[in-house]
Amino acid sequence: MLKWFVKYITSDINFGIVITDHQAKIVEINHMACRVLGIKKECVLDRDLKDAFPGLPEKWNFIYQVLTENGSVRNKLISWSNQGSKYDLLVDSDFICDDQDHVLGRFTIFKDISHLKTLEQQIQRSERLAVIGQIAAGTAHEIRNPLTSIKGFLQILQQSLRDKNLQREMEYISIMKEELSRINLLVSEFLLLSKPKDIQFQEVDLNRVLQDILVIIKNEALLHGIDLVDVTGGKLPHIIGDVESLKQVFLNLCKNAIEAMNGNGSLSIDFQLLKGKKVSINFHDTGPGIPPYVMDKIFDPFFTTKENGTGLGLPICHRIIHDLGGNIRISTKGYGTTFHIVLPHI
Ligand code: ADP
Ligand code: MG
Repeated sequence: MLKWFVKYITSDINFGIVITDHQAKIVEINHMACRVLGIKKECVLDRDLKDAFPGLPEKWNFIYQVLTENGSVRNKLISWSNQGSKYDLLVDSDFICDDQDHVLGRFTIFKDISHLKTLEQQIQRSERLAVIGQIAAGTAHEIRNPLTSIKGFLQILQQSLRDKNLQREMEYISIMKEELSRINLLVSEFLLLSKPKDIQFQEVDLNRVLQDILVIIKNEALLHGIDLVDVTGGKLPHIIGDVESLKQVFLNLCKNAIEAMNGNGSLSIDFQLLKGKKVSINFHDTGPGIPPYVMDKIFDPFFTTKENGTGLGLPICHRIIHDLGGNIRISTKGYGTTFHIVLPHI
């Protein structure tokens, strides 16, 4: 019974376990530890710790660091990457002693908490957006009202200047009106963050939504010299959502993709049905990709890398998709980016 329990503990459990003897030789390592650390049990058993990770610099070798530490380690958060997978590990480690306090060896246990870290980031992001939303709701209208009266007076002024044939001054007024429209647009986007219009929840045919926006996207793509690969993968399912908000999300993503490719590349849209009655609509571009330092801030309101960007496109998308019970995933390599919009379908 005990043997079975020990075997269960070390093999099936969702913890990584490494046990070394007093000479720092590995005497036991379980399946999960091997998987996360990227090593084979038979290659490291009875071997010195140092030899378990040939070629890995000591400062990156957390298992070596932890196991050669003098005292105990409790709830230490460590980032580890192996074959392209990134892990956040919570590590505990201590000596194993006999009755006379002689050190027999050391154990290290770790738990993979990567999904918790992602969840924490998502919550932080939502909280930040909620605060911004409240501020937006409070100030956007206050900004908009004076803008309307400024615009009205400019119109009157323009008329008087026209009567007096003051061409140059009339041009100034035109510029001022254009700038006012820009502020107005910004305020409208800002308002969307606080309250994404009046969302009308109803059954939506995603094929229709995509067909509707494709007319606009085709035009944009043509203008910017971008190839557009139409939606592939068959017929999309129906979802419960709001047509106008969804159009806005899809348009934003296509616009970003086209802007990222800078006149050269292709934008393709496809979809997959996922388990749990979910659909992922994917917008793939062949642009330069998104570097990690941009990725961290991509959903922050006003974060933009563009000269004329507002930095409100993605926060609005995030807000809308969140309200529809879905989420946005991004995969990006050195080149090319895919935005996956995951939504529950009927
Ligand atoms: P904006 O488009 O006004 O800059 P967004 O919120 O839409 O604001 O996007 C924020 C930033 O995210 C962009 O400035 C850009 O740096 C980055 N980004 C978004 N989509 C892509 C993409 N497809 N490829 C590369 N970078 C992107
Ligand atoms: Mg944008």
